[in-house]
Amino acid sequence: MPKFSSENPLVYTIKNLCKVCYTCVRECPVKAIKIDNGQAEVIQERCIACGNCIQVCSQGAKVFFNSTDNVFDIIKSEEKTIACIAPSFPAEFNEIDNYKQLVGMMREIGFDYVTEVSFGADLVAREYKHIFDNNKSTPIITSDCPAIVYYIEHYHPEIANSLAPILSPAMAMAKVVRKKYGANTKVIFIGPCVAKKAESDYFDEVITFTELKQMFVSQNINHANVKESQFDGPHSGKGAIFPVNHGLLKSINKTEGFEAGQVITAEGKKKFKEAVKEFKQGALKTQHLELLSCDGCIQGPGMTDKGNLYAKRKNIFMYVKSKLETLDEETWQKDMQFFSDIDLSRNFEIIDRRLIKPDEKQIAALLIKMGKTSPNDLLNCGTCGYDTCNEHAIAVLQGLAEQEMCLPFTIEELHKSIKDLSVSNKILADTRQALKQSEKLASMGQVSAGIAHELNNPLGIITLYSSALKDDLDVKSEVYQDIKIIDEQAERCKNIVGGLLNFARKNKVQLSDSNITKLIEHSFDSILKPKNITINFINNIENNIVKLDYDQMMQVITNLEKNAIEAMPNGGRLLVELSETIKNVEIKISDNGTGISQENLEKIFTPFFTTKIVGKGTGLGLSLVYGIIKMHKAKINVKSNDKPEKGETGTTFLITIPKDL
Ligand code: ADP
Ligand code: MG
Repeated sequence: MPKFSSENPLVYTIKNLCKVCYTCVRECPVKAIKIDNGQAEVIQERCIACGNCIQVCSQGAKVFFNSTDNVFDIIKSEEKTIACIAPSFPAEFNEIDNYKQLVGMMREIGFDYVTEVSFGADLVAREYKHIFDNNKSTPIITSDCPAIVYYIEHYHPEIANSLAPILSPAMAMAKVVRKKYGANTKVIFIGPCVAKKAESDYFDEVITFTELKQMFVSQNINHANVKESQFDGPHSGKGAIFPVNHGLLKSINKTEGFEAGQVITAEGKKKFKEAVKEFKQGALKTQHLELLSCDGCIQGPGMTDKGNLYAKRKNIFMYVKSKLETLDEETWQKDMQFFSDIDLSRNFEIIDRRLIKPDEKQIAALLIKMGKTSPNDLLNCGTCGYDTCNEHAIAVLQGLAEQEMCLPFTIEELHKSIKDLSVSNKILADTRQALKQSEKLASMGQVSAGIAHELNNPLGIITLYSSALKDDLDVKSEVYQDIKIIDEQAERCKNIVGGLLNFARKNKVQLSDSNITKLIEHSFDSILKPKNITINFINNIENNIVKLDYDQMMQVITNLEKNAIEAMPNGGRLLVELSETIKNVEIKISDNGTGISQENLEKIFTPFFTTKIVGKGTGLGLSLVYGIIKMHKAKINVKSNDKPEKGETGTTFLITIPKDL
């Protein structure tokens, strides 16, 4: 098809309409449709323009090149224009009462002459007859259908010499009208066929019936508003009947009396492929093959109505019947004689386009990759557009298909992805939670830092003045005792402010090599141990020396220990465990106290959050812990159970300090 190429395609996909259902892949007789990145694309070099994909695409995503603008341009040019309409037209223009109206409409568009291709069919039929008479023993394949000719030229070149070397009726008619009306006249073929658009050498342009109807609509031409007119000659005889007689050979067969079964007609994608296969195997030695890619040309992709086969046949019969009744036999014979010098011979362009089959090992390996490890896995379900899993694998290796076209494989992959997704979803949810918490703490930190900064100065002044006052007073005096209380309370406030500053990270840590075992042991000295609480210390580490800020870490540990004790008003056990991994030192502080409710777990590090009565708790302990831990680039985690029905209640804080700070 030289006129069309990948830059200028004949049949192509409108990408945003394609829903990738693989129906076109399934229906393409030569596997000229490639799935690339999930899009169905017609490979121009492989396409035989049969139009099957256009017919089967329910989304209208497969279309053919529209030539109506070109035809309008030709009509506007200086040259005379001739329309040659295919014999299947009565099947298309069903709504027009009388063919003379159709001819009138075509003249209205601007064609100078309007002729019927069927006279070409008469000439071609006579030529076939010659071949058969002179060569009874060699079987031939008719060459009327361009899609079939391309199919044999490119996919079965071994039998290309069986193609009858005769022009198609349309090509013959192009020569006839040029002889009659002048070599420079522009010839436009109009028919049901898309493949004809590629027979560029014979016609100046080719349009389908669908396009002709578009031209009528755009020019507002309809059968009610035109002058009836007769076709221009030469007029045909029996040639007009071939679309309903299952092709030209069958027509000759009927009229010229071939032996029974000598002509085999195969119409439609499945049948013509099967017939070619059997022909190649030699099973059809004495038969002639009439091959048509559509049903008798009347179901072609260029027809607007894709159904109603029998009604269409009836329309053609009725038309031919009335035509033959009025046939001027003498003029027809004269015309047949006049045009008998036209050379109807043709050549074929044989280019083998078959792809190399990958070797069996590659196919087997790919099938395994697609999860087909045993014969039972080869479902051959056809969902991918290929009849078997094997054919699909071959197409993948040839670059025509993708593995994902296999439904069971894709479902399996989908399940895997869903699993992976749910895992990452969980991680994401946890991270989000942590992020929310740290955002909250960060904003609290800013507020706290502000407050702490503002309070620090007045508190300093209170302490300064109260100390000055105390110096002037008798230690035993009542006023001295009162001022002492003011002093103590101011000191307490300063501690709280210090805690806030720690939380807000305004303070700094001073890291030094510290003995962590000693730190834990000392921490027990700074807390009040009620009698009903036992304290255990399990030390699992070998190297006691860890880089940390001893004083600040002491605050962390004692705060956690105090909280644990306060959570066990009726007694219990406090356990501190030291252990290490390659990268970290871990301190675990656990109690079997009341536990923390799920709801409160989110709030415990927030400054001023406390569940303790006024005067008992400030709610600053854990926020201070959090600030110091962050400054150490360490982590703190908490696990807690406050529901006895779920097991022993209690809380465990785990601090993880990185060794290489
Ligand atoms: P405070 O001890 O002043 O209340 P904290 O910041 O130290 O403030 O603790 C906040 C809250 O966290 C406590 O009021 C308590 O509800 C809860 N909490 C902390 N540690 C424990 C624990 N070991 N067991 C139960 N609850 C705890
Ligand atoms: Mg506390």
